[in-house]
Amino acid sequence: MDKKEIVEILASEDKNFIHDIFKSAYEVKTAKVGTKVYYRGIIEFSNICTKNCSYCGIRKSSTIARRYEMTDEEILNSAMFAYRNGYGSIVLQSGERSDDEFVGRVEKLLKRIKRITENNLGITLSLGEQTRETYSRWFRAGAHRYLLRIETSNPFLYGDIHPKDHSFERRISCLEDLKKTGYQVGTGVMIGIPGQKAEDLADDIMFFKTIDVDMLGMGPYLPSKGSPFEQRCEFIPERNYILALKMIAAARLYLEDINIASTTALQALSPEGREQGLKAGANVIMPNITPVEYRDSYLLYDNKPRADENKEDCLKCLEKRIELVGEDVGYNEWGDSPHFFKRLCGKRILESSAQTPVQNSQNNMV
Ligand code: SAH
Ligand code: SF4
Repeated sequence: MDKKEIVEILASEDKNFIHDIFKSAYEVKTAKVGTKVYYRGIIEFSNICTKNCSYCGIRKSSTIARRYEMTDEEILNSAMFAYRNGYGSIVLQSGERSDDEFVGRVEKLLKRIKRITENNLGITLSLGEQTRETYSRWFRAGAHRYLLRIETSNPFLYGDIHPKDHSFERRISCLEDLKKTGYQVGTGVMIGIPGQKAEDLADDIMFFKTIDVDMLGMGPYLPSKGSPFEQRCEFIPERNYILALKMIAAARLYLEDINIASTTALQALSPEGREQGLKAGANVIMPNITPVEYRDSYLLYDNKPRADENKEDCLKCLEKRIELVGEDVGYNEWGDSPHFFKRLCGKRILESSAQTPVQNSQNNMV
């Protein structure tokens, strides 16, 4: 596909055409990554943030957000919950902090999680922009994937949705650092941001290929009460919902063998949002395993689903819903992106021809 064809998909309102696109994307997914769905249990361990992204409900200057921080014990218990229930991986996510105390705490937690799960639980981090040294420390401590959304690949739009001291260039250089450090790197964008055009979203998809990502986590933009962005334009939920599904399908068609998440924000717009995401080409789901008492405080946007997914019976209903789509859950598997291994192989061939030794990943595969 070229940019024109991607724009055509994103701008189309023709139901038959969209149906065919979802069908093709599903076929590509089946051929390139299979029909297993991998879980990443997400632990939103703190909503304290030093940044002020204009769209976000937990940005530093929000006076509405009730700040919290989970204890080490609560975080370890949540990780053990994931491990015992056969989730192959977890995601540790929080507001952005880069002070020494935070960096050291995350490092220690990573080591402890790896130890208590006998190296079997995969760990993804989603902790924002950090120095190369911090990324390395966390990688050595046991994290092997990192999610850092570019939010939009259009630098002007990026400037519009962030305060002046937030830098687009820094974000790009963080993505490069993550890759150099050895992580499987995920990025993504918000879909339906005020001022964003179908051409911008097509550029986003092409950007993902240019930076050669391994994973994608994209979701619809949703307003957050009291944020500087809330009143910026009329919010049409159905529009953002269908656009997000079309983005998943177009990304699958264009990038083929990467992991794509069907995100919580999709579920916020429709109870079946995540299953529809799977049908449009996604292959990863991130069930929320944050203790229920904290969920109302981690409101990046309004109407975030707070389903009590960490009850055993709810896990069963999620499994049933996935089976109804015709797919199976990849229990106890990391479900790494096939693209990452191809990328690694390419790098090895290049490096061996330059006669440089290549460092092995320290993580075992289940
Ligand atoms: N602080 C970290 C991780 C938490 S925020 C970081 O920023 O990377 C994770 C993601 O939530 C962000 O990348 C952003 O894309 C998404 N998000 C924040 N506010 C949102 C909103 N109003 N609508 C949709 N997604 C939002
Ligand atoms: Fe903080 Fe992330 Fe929200 Fe930005 S998007 S304000 S970094 S939590």
